[in-house]
Amino acid sequence: MTNIAIIGCGASGMMAALAATDNNAKVTIFEYRDEAALKILSTGNGRCNISNRKIEEDAYYCDDRALVKSFLKKFSPDDTLAYFEKLGLMFDYKEDLVYPASFQASTVRSLLLNELKRRNVTVRTGHIVDKITAARNGFIISSEKRQEVFDKVILACGSYAGIKKNKRLPGDIDGYSLAYHLGHTIKPVKPSLCGINCVEDYIKSAAGTRIFGKISAFRSDGVKASDSGEIQITDYGISGIPVFNISHIVSAADSTVNLVLDLYPDKKEAEIKDFALKRAKNYIGRTVNEYCLGMLNSGIYDMFLAIFKISGETKINEDNIEILAERISSLKNISLSSKGSRSFENAQCCLGGIPLDEIDENCMSRKNKGLYICGEMLDIDGICGGYNLQWAWTSGHIAGIGASINA
Ligand SMILES: Cc1cc2nc3c(=O)[nH]c(=O)nc-3n(C[C@H](O)[C@H](O)[C@H](O)COP(=O)(O)OP(=O)(O)OC[C@H]3O[C@@H](n4cnc5c(N)ncnc54)[C@H](O)[C@@H]3O)c2cc1C
Repeated sequence: MTNIAIIGCGASGMMAALAATDNNAKVTIFEYRDEAALKILSTGNGRCNISNRKIEEDAYYCDDRALVKSFLKKFSPDDTLAYFEKLGLMFDYKEDLVYPASFQASTVRSLLLNELKRRNVTVRTGHIVDKITAARNGFIISSEKRQEVFDKVILACGSYAGIKKNKRLPGDIDGYSLAYHLGHTIKPVKPSLCGINCVEDYIKSAAGTRIFGKISAFRSDGVKASDSGEIQITDYGISGIPVFNISHIVSAADSTVNLVLDLYPDKKEAEIKDFALKRAKNYIGRTVNEYCLGMLNSGIYDMFLAIFKISGETKINEDNIEILAERISSLKNISLSSKGSRSFENAQCCLGGIPLDEIDENCMSRKNKGLYICGEMLDIDGICGGYNLQWAWTSGHIAGIGASINA
């Protein structure tokens, strides 16, 4: 019976343990926090967007989409849902997004932990692994408490995303450090799926506004991305799912990224200008305050005045109608500049970590035979919508099978 140690009791580690026990392996999970699988509780705003019925490799930022495609074929979203269904989980759907029917992340966490217990998987919480050493026939796992030998090791330590700084392990003994000392490269780890800090002060005058819009990012190296949906304007910049979905390219950049916020994504600039001009002609003699009502979301009105340094009491006249109409239509192209992304604590996942070319098709390390790596520790991050948990389930399952089958 293969004796496997899994470092990290999160989504990918638990799936790896289940897959390995399906193959009759003996599994011990080491978790440094006092409770296992805490991150799952905050997923999907506490509802756990467990997967997505339309997962494709294009939804991931990574260096090897072909590998991701082959992984998603090996243990697909359908396989994942079937696996969870066998464990007794009922699903509900919001379009393609998959949730537990209870809409409670705690259901998913408890179901997985109960199943690990039922299969006699040992979960050692509050256990910090200081060092992993490759030995002749396996690996020595060292901690303050003891040294133990295992045939195989699966690293499933996740990333820093969503974790308060004081709850993270020190950098010299965290998961990335364990992998580094086993010969792996660690690409700079940065927050992803998070809000973006903006340079422009005027953004603050719209803080608290939620508005439908499109956000685009244009990096100086030509990389660009955009997404639309509900955008939140905050006192530091912008947030909301479309912003999260482009945050990777802002985070990955070493300098400021140019952003364009379009507050009328479904309208053409000329159409807006036409409307605004007609309206201005009818409002001659009245104030900008009155004129803007009906065209602008009230939450962004002060920001509009601040961007163009206009007073709301300005009277509309023949000389300013053209320029006012132009300014209204320019709300399709509000220029912003990023000042970095939010912190790890405010992020849902991370970019960087162990390069995908350092694992093989079974998630086995190319640096150490018998060592497997899965989940977010690897340099891959998906957009919002169940993609990151699906990666954790897929890579965890592949690692668990690989570790329990391969001699
Ligand atoms: C607020 C928030 C909401 C999210 N919502 C969604 C969502 O709805 N849908 C979605 O698809 N994704 C979501 N994600 C992302 C998703 O949760 C992660 O991508 C996924 O949990 C990664 O799984 P993992 O197993 O790699 O890491 P984790 O789930 O983070 O598990 C890693 C585990 O390893 C432990 N660990 C770390 N280092 C060590 C060590 N050295 N020794 C022992 N233990 C260690 C950690 O404590 C942790 O328990 C969300 C993330 C956050 C933060």
